[in-house]
Amino acid sequence: MRLIFMGPPGAGKGTQAKQVATRYDIPAISTGEIFRANVGAGTPLGLKAKEYMDRGDYVPSEITNQMVRDRIGEPDAEKGFLLDGYPRTLDQVHELDDMIKATGHQLDVALVITADRDELVARLLQRAQTEGRADDTEEVIRRRQEVYAEQTEPLISLYRERDLLIEVDGMGDIDEVTDRIMAALEAVNQS
Ligand code: ADP
Repeated sequence: MRLIFMGPPGAGKGTQAKQVATRYDIPAISTGEIFRANVGAGTPLGLKAKEYMDRGDYVPSEITNQMVRDRIGEPDAEKGFLLDGYPRTLDQVHELDDMIKATGHQLDVALVITADRDELVARLLQRAQTEGRADDTEEVIRRRQEVYAEQTEPLISLYRERDLLIEVDGMGDIDEVTDRIMAALEAVNQS
């Protein structure tokens, strides 16, 4: 299985990606997490990414693309992978097409988790208190929502046209949402 997870900030992509990847025994690759790990370790990549992330902007694609290309090339991703938070721009879609083509495989599913805007802000502000992410302030959250709406939302119709799109309602308990996702993915696998 080769899947991508999309959805606005706070939709629960990361949480759900981990659950689903575990069930399919494939790595969950989160670009946001890789960036945060690099910021935490003070690597050159982290230093470059930080200024964009702190503002709620996307990190430039040439940085992100290379990072994903390297990660997908690792042995554990040979059997499949779940990308959480990539692609987010049209340019990244084309890069990913190219990366997957080079492996002789294809993308199976683009899953988008939907949620209500106000609920999203509330969730992220709540998370700010427990995890302390630098980009979970109200101002930066609003910016991340804008950037998502401008740059990433248009990709939903692109994947719908390719017949790869599954939309899942992200409102409700974590387990409830996981069950919805698994049911939707099983339906695809059987068709
Ligand atoms: P969220 O989706 O909730 O904003 P993530 O952890 O997925 O959180 O991403 C955090 C930040 O990392 C983004 O705001 C952006 O700056 C950067 N980032 C993650 N994925 C990408 C990507 N595919 N392209 C560019 N920047 C990215």
